[in-house]
Amino acid sequence: MSSKAKRRYAGVDIGGTKLHCVIGDDEGRVIARARKKTKPGLGFEGVIARVCELVRDTSSEADVPLGKLAGLGCGAPSPILPDGTAVNAPNLGWKNVPIAAALKKELGLSVRVANDCDAGTYGEFAHGVARGKKSVVGLFMGTGLGGGLVIDGKVQSGGNGIAAEVGHMVVMVDGRRCGCGHRGCLEAYASKTGMARYLACQVHCEGRKTLLTELCEGDYSRLRSSVLQKAYEQNDEVAVEILNGAARYLGIGAGNLITLLAPDMVFLGGGVMEAMGETLLPLVQAGAKEVVFPAASFEHSKIVLGTLEDDAVALGALALALG
Ligand SMILES: [Zn+2]
Repeated sequence: MSSKAKRRYAGVDIGGTKLHCVIGDDEGRVIARARKKTKPGLGFEGVIARVCELVRDTSSEADVPLGKLAGLGCGAPSPILPDGTAVNAPNLGWKNVPIAAALKKELGLSVRVANDCDAGTYGEFAHGVARGKKSVVGLFMGTGLGGGLVIDGKVQSGGNGIAAEVGHMVVMVDGRRCGCGHRGCLEAYASKTGMARYLACQVHCEGRKTLLTELCEGDYSRLRSSVLQKAYEQNDEVAVEILNGAARYLGIGAGNLITLLAPDMVFLGGGVMEAMGETLLPLVQAGAKEVVFPAASFEHSKIVLGTLEDDAVALGALALALG
């Protein structure tokens, strides 16, 4: 066995609610994985301490001493500067925090930090459904709608490091209000936050009845993928309308990206897709087909479901840490 084949890395997905860590090798094989609550209320230093604890626990489960790890990759929900500083992570309450420097100081490892959607896209590109492709778009429908671009094998983050904000592409002029302050953003239609806001309005302003009211106990801001799935499977009229609409709009967004970039693949990930991907995929494909130009690009840029699920960000961050 060559020494290269023995190298082990850690990858961590720092999410708003949970931390997910994998220990893997340079070919993306997972040796151990573990998770822990993020507890963002502890502040930056408190969360970093939890990340370190998780990396130590996972590496001991993998039977790889910390000092033998060749590096650590980290994905975080923020634009990331080249030195590993997170510029703004609203889910964590972080602004301009030096993630890479803090982890390096605590763990003594070389650390590379990337935006979580960039890492998730790179994960599927390097080790998942898009393996072997050159240019890939990742769309993640969860609490928000995130995206990542890998073009000719490289993550594209633009001149200022914050490209691929696909959730804020406008798909409906003067459309629904988005959390960013604009109107008609894709995220206002195709994300749990957007769906929850629309749902609340349907119930409170239009007086519509839906199973979702009971399933959410009246608190639509806590709308979960499993709840949406349950109501949808029971053919609840409002749930079906909201989810089919979200899938169609996601398809319109995917279609616009295909028209612009003609990638080799578009994959769909995120919590809603992990729960309901098989059901929603044909609707997303149909939405894209409505708008893609030319039609040949729709045939080329297959829209599929991601396969790495919870591991995508951590494995992508790990792959990026290989350099
Ligand atoms: Zn927006």
